[in-house]
Amino acid sequence: MTYDQHKENPISPWLPRNSSMINQTGKWALKQPKIDKKKCTVCLKCWIFCPDSAIKFENSSISVDTLYCKGCGVCEVECPVNAIRMVEIE
Ligand code: SF4
Ligand code: SF4
Repeated sequence: MTYDQHKENPISPWLPRNSSMINQTGKWALKQPKIDKKKCTVCLKCWIFCPDSAIKFENSSISVDTLYCKGCGVCEVECPVNAIRMVEIE
C-alpha cells in the first residue's frame, strides 16, 4: 500500500479487524496510549503496526480508538520519536 492510499484510508491497513471487530478488545486494556501531537511526525508506524487496527488516521492526524485498543504497547515501542506513552486507565 502506498502512502497516498494510506492517506485515503482512516483505518489501519490490517483490515478486516477479524476478532477485534467482535471482541472490542479495548475492554481488556489496563493502559492506553497517550499521543503527544507536538512530537508526532505522522510517520504512521503506529498505524501500520497496531495489531488491532486501533489507530485511526484522519485529517492528517492520528488518534486512538479506545473501543479496540487493548493496551499492548506495540505503538509505544514502534514510535521513532517517542510521541506515544502508555498510561494507566483510571
Ligand atoms: S496499545 Fe496496542 S492496541 Fe492500543 S493502539 Fe497501541 S498498538 Fe494498538
Ligand atoms: S509512530 Fe509516532 S510519530 Fe509516527 S504517527 Fe505514530 S505517534 Fe506519530
